[in-house]
Amino acid sequence: MDYDLIIVGGGPGGSTAAKITAEHGLNVLLLEADQEGRYKCCAGGIPVTNEEFTPIPNGVGEREILGGVVVTPENGPMEFDTTGEKDKGYCMFRTDFDNYLINIAHDAGAEVIYEFRAKGIEINSKGVLVKGLREYKSKCVILATGLGGAHLQRPLGMEVPPMITGIQAEFEMPESVITEQFGNRVWEFFDRNISEHGVAWAFPKRDAVSIGVLGRNIKMSNLKSFLSYPIIKDKLEGREMKLFGGRKIWAAPIPDKLIAKPYRDRLMVIGDACGSADPILYEGIYQARLSGKLAAEIFCEAYKEEDFGDKSLARYHDLLLKHLYEEELRYSYKIHTLLYHSGLLEKIIDAAYSMAQRDPEMMQAMIAMFTRSKTRKQIWKIMLSRKRKLIKELGISSSLRLIPTLLRALRV
Ligand SMILES: Cc1cc2nc3c(=O)[nH]c(=O)nc-3n(C[C@H](O)[C@H](O)[C@H](O)COP(=O)(O)OP(=O)(O)OC[C@H]3O[C@@H](n4cnc5c(N)ncnc54)[C@H](O)[C@@H]3O)c2cc1C
Repeated sequence: MDYDLIIVGGGPGGSTAAKITAEHGLNVLLLEADQEGRYKCCAGGIPVTNEEFTPIPNGVGEREILGGVVVTPENGPMEFDTTGEKDKGYCMFRTDFDNYLINIAHDAGAEVIYEFRAKGIEINSKGVLVKGLREYKSKCVILATGLGGAHLQRPLGMEVPPMITGIQAEFEMPESVITEQFGNRVWEFFDRNISEHGVAWAFPKRDAVSIGVLGRNIKMSNLKSFLSYPIIKDKLEGREMKLFGGRKIWAAPIPDKLIAKPYRDRLMVIGDACGSADPILYEGIYQARLSGKLAAEIFCEAYKEEDFGDKSLARYHDLLLKHLYEEELRYSYKIHTLLYHSGLLEKIIDAAYSMAQRDPEMMQAMIAMFTRSKTRKQIWKIMLSRKRKLIKELGISSSLRLIPTLLRALRV
């Protein structure tokens, strides 16, 4: 049977696109390489803005997150609380979340096939052929393979985004101990001795805590040095790592930059596969779902017009630039440059937190960095409007070191 649309990859991006297109009565096939209920290496922290796509039921959103903690070598824990429903978030296991999203897509009418790894895709003027253990035909294809689909993207002339690596383990702890030790807060550690070009974290779930590090050239030794960090060592004393699929420690890539052209005739690339993740705290679930929604909407229009050509699907890219790049990622890249390319990561975080103690708008900007209650563009504007105060807080010698990176960030 021929499908209207095949979506390759059943992560949050793919299942969001499948749900929306199936709700429009289209004949949609969602292909997922893994088996149902697989473990996914992810800290699983999401802002409440994910409810723009689907509600997050109790149980799936294992722990409600109502604040954050920032730690640097000089300072911390520096705590902050969210101020309302707009600011909260959830921490959850991706196994439950991804299953939930795939089930919703299935209930909306999408056909779902697990354990099908697409090995190749052919596109011609008549349609699309997805090849693996079997072959499936469709009018159009959405690639939602995360960073596991380079072998599909490259032969089709599609760029693969640059990426960095995360390493993570989940520590088992009773719910009450997690509440006492970590609270309903996500913990982010900024220390270039642990990660030269990224972050480390402790994200509490119901009865496990994700402990991980992420950055360029990340190795096991980075995770080890994080595990011996005094706060972490103290809180995890005597706790065991959980086993998933025979492994305790997992590694996975995350993209660093949006690709220049995430579409061609009969094809759109969404989520991590197109580099949609946000490179400040490196989260990408919301962004993958947003890109999935935009690609789904354009597919529905293209279907009505019976036009799956390059120009028709270019409208997906226009929407991606409008809704994700112009207000968000463009400014995330600027903030990323300042934090991770200035050599002043910890000093900037300390200075921003210190300013936030006396400046409610700055505090809101800092909270929004985690919760997305403000756009990245708004956060950048708040930071720039306080550059004199920031310079004073950083001191003359650090500020002089910051100037070339600031000029670079302004040009990004
Ligand atoms: C260590 C770590 C921690 C993270 N923590 C967070 C966090 O706290 N919050 C957050 O928002 N983001 C986080 N992220 C990022 C987040 O995991 C990704 O941005 C998000 O999963 C992207 O969703 P996606 O749907 O694009 O891709 P994915 O979730 O990667 O889904 C892609 C799917 O495609 C399938 N697939 C791949 N190749 C094929 C093929 N050939 N055929 C069929 N199926 C295929 C895969 O099995 C997979 O299920 C983290 C990432 C890492 C590495």
